[in-house]
Amino acid sequence: MTATQHAPDTEETFDVFNPRTQEVIGTYPMHTPAQVQAATGRARAAAAWWAELTFKERRDRLDRFNGMMARSTDELADLVAAETGKPTADAHLEIALALGHVAWVGKHAPRVLGRHRTASSLLSPHLSGTVTYHPYGVVGVIGPWNFPVFTPLGAIVSALAAGNTVVFKPSELTPGVGAWLVDAFAQVVPEHPVLQLVTGRGEVGTALVRSGVDKVAFTGSTATAKKVRAVCAESLTPMVAECGGKDALIVDEDADLDAAAEGAAWGALMNAGQACIGTERIIVHERVYADFLAKLTAEVERVHAGASDDTQLGPMTLPSQVGVVESHVADALERGGHIALGGPATKDGVVQPTILTDVPHDALANQEETFGPTMTVESVPDMDEAVRVANDSKYGLAAVVYAGAQARQIAERLRTGMVSVNAVFATAELPSSPFGGIGDSGFGRVHGEDGLREFATAQAVVAKRFPALLALTTFNRTKGTEKLLGTIVKVVYGRR
Ligand code: NDP
Repeated sequence: MTATQHAPDTEETFDVFNPRTQEVIGTYPMHTPAQVQAATGRARAAAAWWAELTFKERRDRLDRFNGMMARSTDELADLVAAETGKPTADAHLEIALALGHVAWVGKHAPRVLGRHRTASSLLSPHLSGTVTYHPYGVVGVIGPWNFPVFTPLGAIVSALAAGNTVVFKPSELTPGVGAWLVDAFAQVVPEHPVLQLVTGRGEVGTALVRSGVDKVAFTGSTATAKKVRAVCAESLTPMVAECGGKDALIVDEDADLDAAAEGAAWGALMNAGQACIGTERIIVHERVYADFLAKLTAEVERVHAGASDDTQLGPMTLPSQVGVVESHVADALERGGHIALGGPATKDGVVQPTILTDVPHDALANQEETFGPTMTVESVPDMDEAVRVANDSKYGLAAVVYAGAQARQIAERLRTGMVSVNAVFATAELPSSPFGGIGDSGFGRVHGEDGLREFATAQAVVAKRFPALLALTTFNRTKGTEKLLGTIVKVVYGRR
C-alpha cells in the first residue's frame, strides 16, 4: 500500500510535504460536501451489516487488522515519519501503543458493552432490568497530525468494536497514514465500507460533521473543537473532544530526581513537544529545585532536533507552529523569564529543546498550549502550592507526579482527566486507561471501558417478573396503597 493509491478522484487536490525535506510525497483529493455525504450514506448502509455481527466476529476482524498493521510496521512507520517528520523509531513506538489498544478493545468489548443486569429496588422488587449498549450508527472521526496512527485509532477502533461504522477525516498533513489504515482495514473487511476515508482541509471536517453522522470524535485545538461543536449543535449530534493541554509535571522533595529529570525531558520533548499530553510546565519542591534543574539540564543537553532521522527530535510538523513556539519564548523573556538552556534557535522548521525559568504564571508559556520542545520550570514551597499552580490552567488534560509517600494524594487533587505517577505518558501506554480531559482540554473519553461506552448508547429494558406488591403505576391505585407507600418511604429513606 502506498500513498499514491489514493489518486485524486475530484477536481481539486492538495499536496502533502515531508517536513524534513519539503518534498511533495503525496497528492490527495479535496472531497466535496456531496462526496462526504455520499460516504456517510455508504457508511449507514454498511452499519446495518456491521452492527449485526457478534462482538466475536468484529473482534476477529479487528485482530486481523491489527495483525496486518503489526506485520507492516516498517512500511507504516516510514509513512508516519515521512508525513510528520518524527524519527522513525518514535513512529514505531506510536504504532506499538496503537496495536495494544486495538487488541484491548476487541477483547473487552463483549464484557463492557454486552447486556448487563441492573439491580431491583426495595420499592419495586417485581422489576428486573437489563442495559444493552447499541451502536450510534455512523461515527465521524476528525484526526490530528501529531500521532496520526495512535490518536485517531483510539476513537476509530472503539467505535468499530461497539458496532458503528466510521468515516475518517485525517489531518491534511497526514492523509497518507489515514489512507493506509483505511486500505488495510478494507483488506480485512472487504464486504462493506465499514471504515472510509475523506480527505481535505478543515472545511471537509465541517462537511463530515454536517453529513448526517450520528457522533463526532474530534482531536485538535480547542478553537477548532468549539467550531465543530457549534456545527454539531445544529443537529444535536453528540461529540467527544480531545483538545490538548498545558500539562504540569510535579516533583516532590522525596521524588527520585534522576527518574523525574529523565521523565520530564522525554515528556516535554518527545515528538518535538507536539503531544497533547506533553509536559509543558514543571513544578518542583524548592528543597530539590536546584538539584532537579541540574539533572534536567543534563538530560535535555543530550537531545537534539534536526532534519535527519538520527536526531531524537524532528522538525515541527505544522510549519506555523514554529511561530507559536517563538512567540511563547519571546513573551516569557519579555516578562522576566530566563533561558536556562537552548533558546528559540529555529532553523528550517527545527526548534531546539529549550528550558525556561522564572516565567510568570500569566505568560503565554504557562497559559497557552505551546506544542513545541520547550518547558517552564519553577519552584514552590510545598505540594499545596504545587497543586494550586498546576490547577491554574483553563486546560485539564493530563499531569505527571514524581513523588514518594504523597504521590497518590497529589495526583487526585489535580484537575485533569489523567495523571501519570512516577512515569510519563503512562495513561496513554495502558490501553485500559480512559483518555481525555476536562475544561479546555475537551470532554468525553477514548480508550478503556469509558472509551468503548463513548461510542454506544445505553438502552434500559425493565421487565415485570411477578405482580407488584404495591401497584403504583395505575389509575386503579387504592388509598391504602398510597398510605402504605408514604409509610415505607418514611421508614426506608427518612431515618437520617
Ligand atoms: P486543528 O484543531 O485546526 O485541526 C485538527 C483537525 O481538525 C484536523 O483534521 C483539521 O483538518 C480539522 N479541522 C480544522 N478546521 C476544522 C473545522 N472548521 N471543522 C472540522 N474540522 C476541522 O489543529 P491544527 O492542526 O491547526 O493545529 C493547531 C493547534 O492545535 C496546535 O498548535 C496544537 O496546539 C493543537 N493540536 C492539538 C492536538 C492534540 O493532540 N490535542 C493535535 C493537533 C493540534 P486540517 O488539518 O485538514 O486543517
